[in-house]
Amino acid sequence: MPEFPEVNVVIKKLELRTLGKTIKSVDVLREQTIEGDLDHFKKTLQGSTISSFEQIGKFIVFHLSNQNVIISHLRMEGKYFFKEENAPLGKHDLVVFHFVDNTKLVYNDTRRFGRMSVESESNYKDVPPLCNVGPNPFEMKDASLLEKAYKNKSIAIKTALLDQSIMAGLGNIYTDEVLYITKVHPETPAKMVSRSKLEEILQASKEVLLAAMKAGGSTIHSFTSEEGITGDFQVQLQVYGKRNSACPRCGTKFRKIFVNGRGTTYCPKCQKNPGIPALFGITGPIGAGKSTVCELIAKHGFKVLDCDKIVHELYKTKEMQDKLSRIIPGLKIVNNDIDRAWLKSFLIKFPNKKAQLEKVVHKEVVDVVENELKHSKQPVLVEAAFLFETDLYVLCDKTIFVNVDQKKQFSNLESRNDDIGKALLLNSNFDYSNMKKATYVINNDKNIANLEKQVDAIFCK
Ligand SMILES: [Zn+2]
Repeated sequence: MPEFPEVNVVIKKLELRTLGKTIKSVDVLREQTIEGDLDHFKKTLQGSTISSFEQIGKFIVFHLSNQNVIISHLRMEGKYFFKEENAPLGKHDLVVFHFVDNTKLVYNDTRRFGRMSVESESNYKDVPPLCNVGPNPFEMKDASLLEKAYKNKSIAIKTALLDQSIMAGLGNIYTDEVLYITKVHPETPAKMVSRSKLEEILQASKEVLLAAMKAGGSTIHSFTSEEGITGDFQVQLQVYGKRNSACPRCGTKFRKIFVNGRGTTYCPKCQKNPGIPALFGITGPIGAGKSTVCELIAKHGFKVLDCDKIVHELYKTKEMQDKLSRIIPGLKIVNNDIDRAWLKSFLIKFPNKKAQLEKVVHKEVVDVVENELKHSKQPVLVEAAFLFETDLYVLCDKTIFVNVDQKKQFSNLESRNDDIGKALLLNSNFDYSNMKKATYVINNDKNIANLEKQVDAIFCK
């Protein structure tokens, strides 16, 4: 879909080919493309000369010598072709403007969503569709208008920025770029974005659009009339469409989510959402006493999510059972639940299957945690053995590593009636080097009072 800079390029190309040309007649090959009365449209254009062009949001305005304007929106795939009068028409050519000098301008649209209308020069900005188009970023000297418009809006800032009636110019691609540059999470409630952040957003919008228009401008130079008058050009994008690429700022993998149905790429580390509660992550080897530490942290107002429990709940779902059946031959299901003891033994026998299983399960766990977090009124603590190996790590504001000496670990496992050998075998690949990545390390080698002291030291700061 052409965005503001692409439309700008289209206009420059139209100027190059059609400015000063007089329309002899108009053929409309698909009536639905024209809004309003079709005869009025054709009659109004007949004999008029194109005197100038104007861009309003993503609309193209043709100013005519007879005090009328054509308003054109390309929507998804609309494009113009400039041709000699005798050139044949194509299947998707919908409107043809014949000029008196034996040339023609053809509107072509494979998706047929584009629309065109004619209005009077005296009031075209006061009637639909243009009366619903807000100023573009270059017409705004500061962000006061954005501040006023977003003041009571709980919708995501991305959705708010896409609302062309407030500010026209940012489409899906450039909104992602602007939010990345300004380090704003796309789902931040619009009303929570500060005035100074809005100023940054406005400034970045101008810069991003200007850079794109500059890139597009270079294509005008080499433009020939055989090619369609489109805004297609290559522009260096930082985040849009780069899911799973490393963020150039922090190295974290970009994530893709859907905001109000629009695909959105962002950096989970650089772009934090102040609209959702804090997320702390806790990890450590098996038998380190993580659950005890969680209970102590819960006293500080945290809601605790245990990833083991989340996994067990997921195992009960048909979707997960189907997914895992494809990886694990003969997956044993008892009473609509995966037999976990059987699975444990299987994974010890076939350790190469463990990574495949984890890839599927961990992704789902991250989704569950994210969703819980969005709906939580209190800060959340997530307990996960695999914290650092998954996206949970990047979602966490702070992380805690619970360390334990072997003697204490054995006594912890013993008191849980675990098969110590099996438990340690299953966790033999636990990565202790992750301790260095943690924000805090808690040593569980003394008594509970000592643990509590360490927890309080973190949360009473
Ligand atoms: Zn980043």
